[in-house]
Amino acid sequence: MTELTNAVSKRERDCLVLLKEESRGDFPMRLHEIASTMHIKPPTALNIIRRLKSKGFVETQDGMIKLTDVGDRLSKTILMVHRTFESLFCQSGVPESRACSEASEIDFLINGENAMKVLKRIDNPSSCPHGKPIRM
Ligand SMILES: [Zn+2]
Repeated sequence: MTELTNAVSKRERDCLVLLKEESRGDFPMRLHEIASTMHIKPPTALNIIRRLKSKGFVETQDGMIKLTDVGDRLSKTILMVHRTFESLFCQSGVPESRACSEASEIDFLINGENAMKVLKRIDNPSSCPHGKPIRM
């Protein structure tokens, strides 16, 4: 878990999280869906996918884009960190939408093991303020 964080840029992080949250098993996403959901042009999305592919986090097959096992692990770690900090911010009085957007700015930079310490410190909530599981 530890060695994986800080491996991607903010946009690559957004793409990984999108693939993790939107892909459903046998229904991987296509480039145009990623581009439209991220509000970016397809060539920009393609560059992000190429970078993620060269880092070993995604694979493409017949126009479908899927997380690799390593990419899946990284996205789970990022989401765990995200939801931990979101919970911490909300418990501290930060409004929910603000907590989410600010957690997104840091979640891919923080070490997973350190986030687990923060999680313990805030009494190990099982879900984030949106009701999503923190540990997957
Ligand atoms: Zn959030």
